[in-house]
Amino acid sequence: MKADVAVIGAGLIGAHSAYQLVEKGLSVVLIDPGPPGGEQASSFGNASWLSSHSVLPPAYPGVWKQVPSWLTDPLGPLSVSPTYLPKALPWLLRYLASASTVGKLEVLAGHLRSLLAGAPALHAEIAANTGLSHLIDAESGLMHAYRDRAAFEADAMAWRIRRDQGIHYDTLEGEEFRARQPHVTSDYTFGVYVPEAGHCKNPGAYNAGIVANVESRGARRMAAKALNLTQSGGKVTGVETTQGHVSCDAVVIAAGARAKAFAAQAGDKVSLETERGYHVTVEGSHNMPGPATPIMVGDRKVVITRLAHGVRCAGQVEIASVDAPADWRRAEIVRKHIAAMFPELDTSEARVWMGCRPSTPDGLPVIGNASLSGVVHAYGHGHIGLVGSARTGQLVAQLVTGQAPMIDLAPFSAARFS
Ligand SMILES: Cc1cc2nc3c(=O)[nH]c(=O)nc-3n(C[C@H](O)[C@H](O)[C@H](O)COP(=O)(O)OP(=O)(O)OC[C@H]3O[C@@H](n4cnc5c(N)ncnc54)[C@H](O)[C@@H]3O)c2cc1C
Repeated sequence: MKADVAVIGAGLIGAHSAYQLVEKGLSVVLIDPGPPGGEQASSFGNASWLSSHSVLPPAYPGVWKQVPSWLTDPLGPLSVSPTYLPKALPWLLRYLASASTVGKLEVLAGHLRSLLAGAPALHAEIAANTGLSHLIDAESGLMHAYRDRAAFEADAMAWRIRRDQGIHYDTLEGEEFRARQPHVTSDYTFGVYVPEAGHCKNPGAYNAGIVANVESRGARRMAAKALNLTQSGGKVTGVETTQGHVSCDAVVIAAGARAKAFAAQAGDKVSLETERGYHVTVEGSHNMPGPATPIMVGDRKVVITRLAHGVRCAGQVEIASVDAPADWRRAEIVRKHIAAMFPELDTSEARVWMGCRPSTPDGLPVIGNASLSGVVHAYGHGHIGLVGSARTGQLVAQLVTGQAPMIDLAPFSAARFS
């Protein structure tokens, strides 16, 4: 097979990259052994947040002090596989170092904001162009729930940094909060509402819909596993797959948590691990109890969103191999959190899922030209791969066609790990 560009991975990053490449008139082959946005992809089961205000990386100064209590709490948000710990240790140390001071956090917030500003409107525009408007609500806003004002004030640094990035938010307390979130347990009395953010109503369907759109406009999909990049004279020439060779002038690495091996073949050693996450989805009608506006519950570290087909609660960070079997006890923790937040919701029939966030230690994705000419990195979006996917697609297309990228990509370069 021959094309201008081969995209490895048809998750949201690969799909949006293919969309923008097709917009530029290039012929594209999307390589993925799984269905686009299928259960194998992190893009299938995320919390659906188009959170343009997600400018803080997961780590923060002093986070290590909380790790022992998280690990020992039976409802805690973090677990580390003991057998995988030695392998993950370098990544974990970088993770702690990347956000060890407020100053570092502020710099990372600026970089993330450059990628995410305007994301809900950009998704809405692409959804409108692809017949998927019913899946994007760019104007819902998003809410963070706290037990009380004191809990919110304990999070003051995060909100100060967001405000410094130009993010506006409103606080709601007591009756005002209850009126906006009538089904939430009365244990929570304080909310922060971010009007600029939005959400997707079914991320797997959105992913599949974008791929269907590019296929209808000539892109080809190859149900195969990419094995190796091929090269000649210091330039990429194609991709070897389980279904044969794809010859191309450019390759986009968008293989999510499995991107590291391709990055190495393209001459770049990147720090990429997976933070595995879980969801429970209670399927049912729009009338079932749930959040009126999607909410993140600060102390439980879960996000709860009403989707087109039910109510989803997602969370947990599990440091383990991408290939290790799911530990469904982590999904049960997530189920307990949604049951506690929405006591009227029957969670006994919830569907469970585990997915692999492709995560860098500093929370910034890897976007940029690789050392091997013709290869573009596009992975490592960690907790922000849905919201960041549309802009990443634009950046990928600019890199492939040799245009100046619309934002400064130096902070996102693979070179930061060397
Ligand atoms: C529980 C949870 C909640 C989340 N909530 C949010 C949220 O609310 N908002 C947000 O913005 N982000 C969220 N995220 C993060 C987001 O889902 C990810 O960052 C995003 O889906 C990553 O997209 P991707 O395309 O890079 O990877 P993926 O979606 O994982 O896709 C990678 C694709 O590459 C394919 N692939 C792998 N190896 C190969 C190979 N050798 N050859 C060919 N193809 C290959 C895979 O089959 C897969 O389809 C969440 C993640 C989780 C787990």
